[in-house]
Amino acid sequence: MMGPMRRRPRVAGPAGVALAVAVAVMVMVAVTVGAPAPRAAVRVHGAGSDHAATTTSIPTSSAPVVDVTADTGTGGYWLAASDGAVFGFGAPSLGSAAAVALASPVVGMAATSDDGGYWLVAADGGVFAYGDARFAGSMGAVHLDQPVVSMAVDRATGGYWLVAADGGVFAFGAPFEGSAGALRLHAPVVGMAATRDNGGYWLVAADGGVFAYGDARFAGSMGAVHLSYPVVGMAADADGSGYWLVGADGGVFAFGAPYEGSTGALVLDRAVVGMAATADGGGYWLVGADGGVFALGDAVFRGSVSVLPLAGLTVVIDPGHDGGNGASPGIIDQPIDGGGLTEPCDTTGTETDNGYTEHAFNFDVALRAQSLLQAEGADVVLTRPTDTGVGPCVNQRAAIANALRAAVAVSIHADGGPPGGVGFAVDTPVGVVSSISNNLAIVGPSTQLAAILRDAFESATGEPPSNYTGQDGIVFRSDLGGLDLSTVPKVLIECANMRNAHDAALVQNPQWRQLAAQGIAAGLEQYLQVAERT
Ligand SMILES: [Zn+2]
Repeated sequence: MMGPMRRRPRVAGPAGVALAVAVAVMVMVAVTVGAPAPRAAVRVHGAGSDHAATTTSIPTSSAPVVDVTADTGTGGYWLAASDGAVFGFGAPSLGSAAAVALASPVVGMAATSDDGGYWLVAADGGVFAYGDARFAGSMGAVHLDQPVVSMAVDRATGGYWLVAADGGVFAFGAPFEGSAGALRLHAPVVGMAATRDNGGYWLVAADGGVFAYGDARFAGSMGAVHLSYPVVGMAADADGSGYWLVGADGGVFAFGAPYEGSTGALVLDRAVVGMAATADGGGYWLVGADGGVFALGDAVFRGSVSVLPLAGLTVVIDPGHDGGNGASPGIIDQPIDGGGLTEPCDTTGTETDNGYTEHAFNFDVALRAQSLLQAEGADVVLTRPTDTGVGPCVNQRAAIANALRAAVAVSIHADGGPPGGVGFAVDTPVGVVSSISNNLAIVGPSTQLAAILRDAFESATGEPPSNYTGQDGIVFRSDLGGLDLSTVPKVLIECANMRNAHDAALVQNPQWRQLAAQGIAAGLEQYLQVAERT
């Protein structure tokens, strides 16, 4: 039998209607006579709803949570974060990889049959064993074509299986029962669960497709239904006959297992990333990347993790120019292709009448913004490590953020405008396609970023939008290689006009530079939180 599928009601318009119809048809076909009536979630707890009551007891994680594993002995659970940290709730702490410099993020976790230990698995196939969990091998030393995404335990042998995104299964101290590695998958595999007698396992792909091996029974899938949110994990029911799939929005799909509710009706801060069933299969926990835990059915809420808001996100800050540029015209005057536009490698920047340089201002504000964003959990990379070097060229500055697939990038500058001009401006890209670049995909997000950053900067500093360039503090630019070459959302902020006496006094005041950094950091954070939810 199969439970109903609840989707997020906020989906509107033709696509949402089509999905609802498709799901409804599927439910009618699939539900067998005598299936129990669907139950609403009896208990729903998340980090958001419980913060007020238990703030002091909520541990903080600087990395996103990636999985939840049940301690079937105690009824508690463990949460694992991508940096290897493990948080036990009603479950003993047996060790973690938080102090280890991981080559690759942790992506999954599994417990031993007596719950006296657990394993963590990283994307590179590395396995870490704690408590009475036995290390039986890993893929950590082997180059994998596709990252490992999940693991499951063979309770009969104490061994385990790893599964990669391409469906390849790696067995360690456990029988190999088959894999999807040779199939042409429509979507990557994202999760794995073992049967209770450990004679088999299921794999699930992001499109809801399910693959059964050994004595695992295929009880249905979402593979033929268009999903608004990808499936991110699965859990096996205790009686071995079925399983649940969970989507990034917390929607739960039950196949041969009782539907106990979902978070599909809630608006989540961050995507659901994992699922674990209770010992008797009468409930399950869902966990979000933000550490929020949702206990459904007979699963008991024992606590959650507060993940720093920008954990797992990479921000690139590009302090314009460099201190050594002025003495190295042979380098910085070299022409580069800025995306169909030839421009110099870099420039020296401007300075105030009394000689306070733009590169020094840019670098100081960048360091301050970096510190603020790191405190929120972001990985912050500067395009230059000091204020005494030369360059890098503007195309390389863009390439740094592109290579890191940064969630957002910002170039920090101060302008050399007319002496009578006051205020700041945010330069935002317009679409430019060249033989070496195409920034069309970032124009929309960058425009949104520009407006958010403009508001945040004005609010933090009190500095007005420029009275000599752009419109309301926004300038659309097609002539900046740093924006034309970017493949990540990016803008450039001219924080003030260094050639204006009023603004020149501001930029030389460290307290104002801190306000400028606060405005930039706040703008980026607000943008990232909007971007994460859409
Ligand atoms: Zn500049």
